[in-house]
Amino acid sequence: MNEADSEGIAAAFRRRGYTLTEDIKKADAVVVNTCTVRQKAEDKAISQIGRLRVWKEKRPEGKIFVVGCAAQKLGGKYLKNRFPFVDEVVGAKAIEQFEDSLIRQLGPSPETETSHQNIYRSPQTAYVTIMRGCSHKCSYCIVPAVRGPAVFLSPEAVLADAQAKLAAGAKEIVLLGQTVNAYRHNKTTFDRLLRKVLQLPGLERLRFMSPHPLYFDGAFEALLAEQPKLARHIHLPAQSGSDKILKAMRRGYTSGEYLNLIARLRLAAPGLAVSTDFIVGYPGETEKDFKDTLAMVEAGRFSLAYCFKYSPRTDQPEMAADLPNEELENRLERLLAAVKKNSLLVLNERIGKIEEVLFETENYGRASGNFAVRVKAGGAPGRMERVLVAGAEKNTLNGKIQ
Ligand code: SAH
Ligand code: SF4
Repeated sequence: MNEADSEGIAAAFRRRGYTLTEDIKKADAVVVNTCTVRQKAEDKAISQIGRLRVWKEKRPEGKIFVVGCAAQKLGGKYLKNRFPFVDEVVGAKAIEQFEDSLIRQLGPSPETETSHQNIYRSPQTAYVTIMRGCSHKCSYCIVPAVRGPAVFLSPEAVLADAQAKLAAGAKEIVLLGQTVNAYRHNKTTFDRLLRKVLQLPGLERLRFMSPHPLYFDGAFEALLAEQPKLARHIHLPAQSGSDKILKAMRRGYTSGEYLNLIARLRLAAPGLAVSTDFIVGYPGETEKDFKDTLAMVEAGRFSLAYCFKYSPRTDQPEMAADLPNEELENRLERLLAAVKKNSLLVLNERIGKIEEVLFETENYGRASGNFAVRVKAGGAPGRMERVLVAGAEKNTLNGKIQ
């Protein structure tokens, strides 16, 4: 989400004739797009802002913008007080009005043509935001507080954005939202929106992130079965394998319901890759609860799992982290080891099979299942090729173009 916001911000700068630079010494303006989903992210943002003091001293006419979720949480007053050299603070809830701050600092846009440009993904992949905020109340999560309740963009706005990005050369679209499959705008449900995007000329592959287990239905399963351009990969955060912890987290499903759901999705799309997120050390997580999460890694046959140490986002005493850091580290390590072992098994199952690969360079691309794929030669940016997989190592498949 933050990456998509950064791309929107970069586009606003480009409309004023600015270009991106990796070299801060050459920059006329700096934007710090902050995250606060875990305390560590917020701490990093704060120290990044602090380091800009020296830059501003050397370049007093330079502009500093602090934007995003940590900016929303901490507030403009606090940030400007602590860092008086910051010119503008734009919180996540006001991110769509970023252009107003830009006008305040740099004047109105000269209306130059802007091209679609990716900062984070390869040029053939473009993010398209379909919803902002979140209306869930997962107990550990700060997103609803800093991004506000769920707001769905109209299908017209989504299609116009996707169309513009495809016209500018994107081949793959990633639809974004915190509960992306909860999408609904009047009569347009998630599966209907996907159908419309799938019809856009130039589209080779459609992804979305992140769905919530509560919102998949038969209509989506039918679409997955019939539309090969819909990626054979779903990133579906599970958070825990323990029903007790899932309940405390207010996720709304049990581990059994989650596993049944991915079994159904795999029935609709054989070979579907599923990746996930886990949190370790949620308050009250016992060794038995943790073992349930380890068991889920095997049962889910995940291609990948992002594992996070629980980070308290409120001051409520019952939400404090209650495990000693040593034990937290120990569980995280065991979980990461289980994930790694399991991912390698999943990767090895692909050997001898054909993968549809969207190439980013001559040698590298991504399979529909989101696996990184390497070949010795024959790829080209933006080209889709069939690759016969010969081997697997370190999260990467290798093979030969057919
Ligand atoms: N909307 C998505 C998740 C968005 S946050 C969903 O519901 O699935 C991205 C990930 O950060 C979450 O899946 C979770 O694993 C992790 N996360 C969120 N809050 C956290 C916290 N307080 N401590 C540790 N990890 C957290
Ligand atoms: Fe946070 Fe996702 Fe839960 Fe929303 S659904 S509260 S974003 S974890």
